[in-house]
Amino acid sequence: MSGPAREEPEVGLRGPAVSAVHVTARLNRSVLMHTYVDPQVTFVAGEGSVLVDETGRRYLDFISGLAVTSLGHCHPDVADAICRQAQTLVHVSNLYGNTLGLEVGVALDRLVRTGATGTTSATAEGRVFFCNSGAEANECAFKLARRWAGPGRFEVVSASGSFHGRTLATLAATGQPSKQAPFAPLPAGFSQVPYDDLEAMGAALESGRVAAVVLEPIQGEGGVIVPSPGYLAGVRVLCDMHGALLIVDEIQTGLGRTGEWFGFHAGQVRADIVTVAKALGNGMPVGACWARREVADAFRPGDHGSTFGGQPLAMAAARATLEVMEREEVPSRSARAGERLRRALGDLALVAGVRGAGLLLAVELDHPVAPAVVQRAMGRGLLVNAVRPEAVRLAPSLLVSDAEIDQAVGILGEVLAAVDAAGSQEVPR
Ligand code: PLP
Repeated sequence: MSGPAREEPEVGLRGPAVSAVHVTARLNRSVLMHTYVDPQVTFVAGEGSVLVDETGRRYLDFISGLAVTSLGHCHPDVADAICRQAQTLVHVSNLYGNTLGLEVGVALDRLVRTGATGTTSATAEGRVFFCNSGAEANECAFKLARRWAGPGRFEVVSASGSFHGRTLATLAATGQPSKQAPFAPLPAGFSQVPYDDLEAMGAALESGRVAAVVLEPIQGEGGVIVPSPGYLAGVRVLCDMHGALLIVDEIQTGLGRTGEWFGFHAGQVRADIVTVAKALGNGMPVGACWARREVADAFRPGDHGSTFGGQPLAMAAARATLEVMEREEVPSRSARAGERLRRALGDLALVAGVRGAGLLLAVELDHPVAPAVVQRAMGRGLLVNAVRPEAVRLAPSLLVSDAEIDQAVGILGEVLAAVDAAGSQEVPR
């Protein structure tokens, strides 16, 4: 089980969480818009790498709310910070000051720029805008890039297969035509080039109208696709040649997930804008858009805003999350645990390869049976996700223990062997 005090997955939840486990009356889901498939399980409690459903059954969570609960569920320090802040001050408007946001901003600025932990500097070199989600962080980035570039340079170039959010502008940047098509026409000024293709990127920048390029250092939703070493650095050079900004979308890859504080640190690349969300509040909805000061200064009061963005409750969660992340040195834990997981996964039946970095991994299967594998794994008490028909994504807590990794691999091994034995009958709809 993850977290410093936890040893064995079977130990279960501590008192208060256990008492929260109860069978709820079956409420009618028809009240909800049909944007998600009907879930097969409803969780009512969690601790570390363990989730508990409404019948009291325990699951090993190896997807972490899609790379959100990087410190595991209900980390005690984050839970305490949220409780204390909820009894002190939940919300004030951005019309007024809020010291928590300054603390989080300084820490985030240090981590984004240098990856150095523990320095108590009170000043920052970049600037941060706080919001509530990844899509909003990217919206801020796109608006800032356009504001910085000025009239005539409004285009944002992204990569095919990318994912940057579901709002209209971030959908326009998301290189997945099937997600875009039902909502056409999308906002103008967005185009895509093949990922990991420097020639195509160079050609796209020739127009002279490009304000910014936005890229994920590893494409998460697109299938955990890792570009060639040097790709991001090459894009940086192209951006400099053509006077465009480089926005790095670290919403899924950031804050230790890939074994570095941020995915772009692996390539020693300079970013102009970095967007963060998911793990920043360990489950509290917090997003942030960081920018180099010269870029950020393009924004003037009134240019952008968010009612809830940076409010004390969210900032208390983010401050506690970053403190624990630094104390636990999550990037090196993620790198070490990721290596163990990757090695073990490579030996399993049906596995053609394992890709990713740190604890953002995808198992490439011989056949497109990922949905069947995910389904059977859930039946055995392991949560993973089919990121492509032939790829299963794993993104456990960065504090996951060796025992939990071994247990998850054991379950997945049995599931893959069973799916392999079942053969073509398991091919999904
Ligand atoms: N960018 C990336 C790389 C993501 O993985 C996601 C979500 O999966 C987003 C943006 C959108 O974040 P949100 O769902 O919080 O709006």
